[in-house]
Amino acid sequence: MKPFEKCPVCGGELEGKQVEKLLRGGGNTVSMKVPAEVCLHCGERLYAEDVVKSFEEIRGKLHKREFSHFRTLGQSFTVEENWPNNKIQPTTFVGADLNVMFLRSLNDIR
Ligand SMILES: [Zn+2]
Repeated sequence: MKPFEKCPVCGGELEGKQVEKLLRGGGNTVSMKVPAEVCLHCGERLYAEDVVKSFEEIRGKLHKREFSHFRTLGQSFTVEENWPNNKIQPTTFVGADLNVMFLRSLNDIR
């Protein structure tokens, strides 16, 4: 049962694949493998409704910092402000987040 026969963005052919999905929230990232219909032309990914629902649950858990059902997979990093090539900038997280606000106020002091 496919939600779409053709890519809704460009009309290209879709192919069922296992893809890596990254979800972020509250400064943390969860990676997982999920099935998706991938457009062979533009790369658009389409997910089943129950998969999208799980993404929302995972994002919600990240924002609330509830880490049950997650396990650690290495560490994630961003670069420091003073990386030699200034085209490379650290990732910042959007949205109300205590840690981010703390980091911003530290930056203001510098
Ligand atoms: Zn497409």
